[in-house]
Amino acid sequence: MAPLTHLGPRQATGRQTKASPSDVRRMNRSLIFDLLFPSTPRSRAELSRLTGLSRVAVSDVVNDMLDEGLIRESGHEMNPSGKGKRATLLTIDPMRLHVIVVDLSQDNLIQGAVTDLLGIPQDHMEVTLEPGRRIDADAIVQLVDQLRADVDDGTVIGIGVAAPGVISDGVVRTSTALDWHDVDLKGAIESRFTIPVTVVNDVVGSMFTERFFGEAGPNLLFVKLDRGIASATLIDDVPVVGVHHAGGEIGHISLDPDRGEPCPCGKRGCMETIIAAPALRARMKASGLRDRRPLIAEAGSYLASALAMPVGLLDLEDVCVYGPADIVNSTFLDAAQERFDAMTASTFRGRTRIRRCQCGPGLVMRGAAIAAVLRHLEDRPGARPEE
Ligand SMILES: [Zn+2]
Repeated sequence: MAPLTHLGPRQATGRQTKASPSDVRRMNRSLIFDLLFPSTPRSRAELSRLTGLSRVAVSDVVNDMLDEGLIRESGHEMNPSGKGKRATLLTIDPMRLHVIVVDLSQDNLIQGAVTDLLGIPQDHMEVTLEPGRRIDADAIVQLVDQLRADVDDGTVIGIGVAAPGVISDGVVRTSTALDWHDVDLKGAIESRFTIPVTVVNDVVGSMFTERFFGEAGPNLLFVKLDRGIASATLIDDVPVVGVHHAGGEIGHISLDPDRGEPCPCGKRGCMETIIAAPALRARMKASGLRDRRPLIAEAGSYLASALAMPVGLLDLEDVCVYGPADIVNSTFLDAAQERFDAMTASTFRGRTRIRRCQCGPGLVMRGAAIAAVLRHLEDRPGARPEE
């Protein structure tokens, strides 16, 4: 995907000289939406103060967003003195508009849902494929068609698809998990429905969920350790996807190319062949040991060693790991933390915390919804005619 250029509060952009009126309107909309999303009620006066936009400009954009159904008026500001008029608060309106999401991150399973603007599923469907059968774009189009049948078309602002692999401009360039090369998912779905499609890497999507609904701030290294290993990085609320959109594809980085198991990618010693869930579970089984903790601890240390350099390079203090509970447990995290402290903490550098993601199994679908909502904000200048 093209990087979402902003996720959180930004500086006011209304004074840029080169922006056209529709650009300015679009930026102001995003700016105001960001300040309210997902659940921070604010008054018009506060939005004006935080964005640097005039009260008139704020009212103009707010009226637009109220008309469109993105936000709603919701109660009044607390006024401790009890005197004077209390300002009306604005919040995101999760109820009126919808997103259709599809999650391709699991083996032999396509999950889909109609969600509200906060990514909460209203209607959920899934397609289970026979083992060995590849997921194809037609199956996804069919699922979207079924989901769409249950929701008023006019209320769907976007379709968000989360897929593992390298994704740019809606095309899955390469995905080992899906066994896909250059699959134009956006094109395939948009040619069937007149709804904008956003395709996001599943780990980047999960990172969005952690950022907006978990504990993360604007700087984060998010790692998914499951059947593979991949990461996503957020710097000042900008996802870092890299030159080839392959940023975060760390599973096939080999820390010791001369040792370790041969990997299907052609190298030896790839991180996935050492600490991804299948490799780790196989090793635990083969060891015959009842106590799995030493192997889990070793895997935690290994991951922290591998991440110490990017953490130091980017000065990150928050590393969040998502993975199965039998692996990413306290034994794993304690060992990882110990290794991080030994490798990265110093008199001039504080501690980097490594922790488990608490967002639950719906985090990929929710991330796809967030990506689609943010894209909608970027694409649409607003309902009103431009002056
Ligand atoms: Zn490899």
